Order: sequence, then structure tokens, then C-alpha cells
Amino acid sequence: MADKDKRTIVVTGGSRGIGRAICIALAEPDAYIYFNYFSPTDPVAEEAAAAETEKLVTEAGGSATGICVNVASQDEVKNYFEKIINDTKRIDVLVNNAGITKDGLLVRMKEEDWDAVLEINLKAAFRCMQIAAKTMMKQRSGRIVNIASVVGAIGNPGQANYVASKAGLIGLTKTAAKELASRNITVNAVAPGFIETDMTASLTDKVKESMLSQIPLGRAGKPEDVAAAVAFLTSEAAAYLTGQVIHVSGGMYM
Ligand code: NAP
Repeated sequence: MADKDKRTIVVTGGSRGIGRAICIALAEPDAYIYFNYFSPTDPVAEEAAAAETEKLVTEAGGSATGICVNVASQDEVKNYFEKIINDTKRIDVLVNNAGITKDGLLVRMKEEDWDAVLEINLKAAFRCMQIAAKTMMKQRSGRIVNIASVVGAIGNPGQANYVASKAGLIGLTKTAAKELASRNITVNAVAPGFIETDMTASLTDKVKESMLSQIPLGRAGKPEDVAAAVAFLTSEAAAYLTGQVIHVSGGMYM
């Protein structure tokens, strides 16, 4: 039976990288954290990664439950939120973090790669926001944070699909912020720059060097740098902030 005074926090894609750091940063005794993941290629490794996030959240003083839910599936997402709302009766925070890349030059990009990236990075965020917002509207409170990207503001060769999804997410954030403000729901985006995670680990040394040369602070970011901005946006201190994009990029974008 859920404790109705506890906050319910939902983070998409919390098994590793930035999502895991967000779960840890939001850990507190008065919050239930639900996160999901989806890796059809290596379910055993993914379950172990999710268990590791749960353990780290517990060590940070909170509690978290990870579950395999594909954000690209409308049915899975609907069932997932129904279960959460059934358990805790509320949703206080939604962080749309799950994201993928399928890079390629515009002229060679396959439609399936365009569709897959737009589906997970943009449409899934819309899907989760639509469900969570209905509960938040009834509560007359809520915080939504969308993880965009610095490239959504400046563009990036080889990432037409990814950049379009993140620019779209910024537009979605601003519109939702305007629509939901009267119900005391804030909607903001965090736009990371070049952050050390699995997503960037596979880049060639040449690409990494080129990225680093564009960062005034002279280093790649850590998942914790992004998580700190999310923690701020979901805190009481950020109650008067909505429709904003906080760039956590070491100054890559100003
Ligand atoms: P990551 O290490 O690749 O982790 C991605 C997370 O999303 C994983 O937990 C993954 O689950 C989950 N995920 C992927 N597809 C999913 C699906 N269909 N359903 C449910 N979960 C799914 O990536 P990251 O670097 O932490 O990135 C997190 C977010 O930050 C993304 O939105 C990304 O675009 C954004 N971002 C990252 C950077 C960067 O430099 N790293 C920069 C700007 C923005 P599995 O582990 O099961 O695959």
C-alpha cells in the first residue's frame, strides 16, 4: 500500500547513463522512483543494469523500481502508467530521458532510422506527458522535465533525425508549459552537451576531439552534471520556472 504523502517520480530510460544519474539525484526517503528501460538485444545485461540503478538509489536514501517497458509501444506505456497510478495514486515528476541515436548524413538516411529516432525521442515523450499530465491536472501540481540536447538548438551534421527530435522536444516543452501552467504544472527541458555515457562512448577519437574543442569549460560533462539540473527543476526552488531550456553543455551553446 502506497504512502500518499510520498512523491511519485517517473524517469524513462533509467538503467544507465544520464537516466541512472537522475534517479540517484532524485533519491529521497519521501519519494518512489519508477524507471524503465528496454534492450531487446541483451535482456540479461539490462536487467543487471536496472538492478544496479535500484541499488544505487537505495544507497542514496531512496527507493526505485525498474521495469522493462518499451516507450515506443503505446500499449506498454499505457499499462505502465496505469500500474504506477494504481500503486501510488499520483505522479509528481515525469522525466522524459529515454533516447537513441541512429546517425547518418541526410542524403543517405534511411526512413526507418528517421522514424525510430523520432518515435523514441519525441513521440514517446508526448505519449508519457499526455498520460502523466492528466493525473497532474487532477492533483493541480506536477513537474515535467524533458531531456533534449544542445544540438536541438544548434544543429549537427550527421544527426538530422536526432536533431529534429530534440528541436521538436523543445517546442513540445514550451507548448505544454503554456497549456499546463494554470494547473500549477511546470514543464522545462534540460539540453545536455557532450556527456560521457554509452551514447557517446562509440564516437571516434576524431569526433570526440572536435566536440571537446567546442566546449569553453574544456571537458566533457558527466551524467551527474545533467542530473543536478533536473534535481533543481523538480525542486521547490524552481516553482516559478516554466517553459525554459537549461543547457548543461560547458558553454558549448550560449
Ligand atoms: P544511454 O546511455 O544510451 O541510455 C539511454 C537510456 O534510454 C537507457 O536506459 C535505455 O535503456 C533507454 N532507452 C532507449 N530506448 C528505449 C526504449 N525504446 N524504451 C525504454 N527505454 C529506452 O544514453 P544517455 O547518454 O544517458 O542519454 C540519455 C538522454 O540524454 C537521451 O535522451 C539523449 O538523447 C540525451 N542526451 C545525451 C547526450 C550525451 O552526450 N550522452 C547529449 C545530449 C542529450 P536500455 O539500457 O535498456 O537500452
